[in-house]
Amino acid sequence: MKPTLIFATNNQHKAEEIHFMLNGKFNIITLKEAGITIDIPEPYLTLEENADTKASTIFNLTQKSCFGEDTGLEVHSLNGEPGVKSARYAGEDRNFKANIDKLLDKLKDKADREARFRTVIALIAGGKTYHFEGICKGRILEAATGTGGFGYDPVFVPEGAGRSFAEMTMEEKNRYSHRAKAIQQLIDFLLNRK
Ligand code: IMP
Repeated sequence: MKPTLIFATNNQHKAEEIHFMLNGKFNIITLKEAGITIDIPEPYLTLEENADTKASTIFNLTQKSCFGEDTGLEVHSLNGEPGVKSARYAGEDRNFKANIDKLLDKLKDKADREARFRTVIALIAGGKTYHFEGICKGRILEAATGTGGFGYDPVFVPEGAGRSFAEMTMEEKNRYSHRAKAIQQLIDFLLNRK
């Protein structure tokens, strides 16, 4: 039987990206699919602490193997902003468009558009916590381009690509993405520990 893991997220886009990579090797279920209806807070100043909290909150509720994930967009000329505050950059309503507008406004006169996405995963399995990190370097466009994906995808072009994440298929995004890199490490770890 395939091992089942709960992914501590309510973000359907993230869940789809991960399912796409699993190739049926594991059974990953979201909070909704596990019948859990809480919105886990992300109050901390680091991605690591937020990922840990997501995982431990769900582990304490279910006692089942699970993982939490937190991602931030770190922009060089803004000293790493929005970083851990990426989801709520323009306000508590977590509006993607307002976040992008704020980012583009802050970068208006800046020649340095260098940025990176960083994902941290915290896995709780067999009574232990393990961490995995994925980084995707790239740059911020002058204007939003493309309609796919979510969050800052329309303004982020990964290094080595000629278009934004929002102009890519999920398969293509996964070839570059921070989350795909972190998830690949999680998959390798799970496969090797059996
Ligand atoms: P969180 O990990 O759900 O807290 O994500 C923080 C925010 O970062 C999200 O609300 C999105 O705005 C943004 N974000 C996370 N992952 C991605 C991605 O793969 N592409 C674009 N934006 C992302």
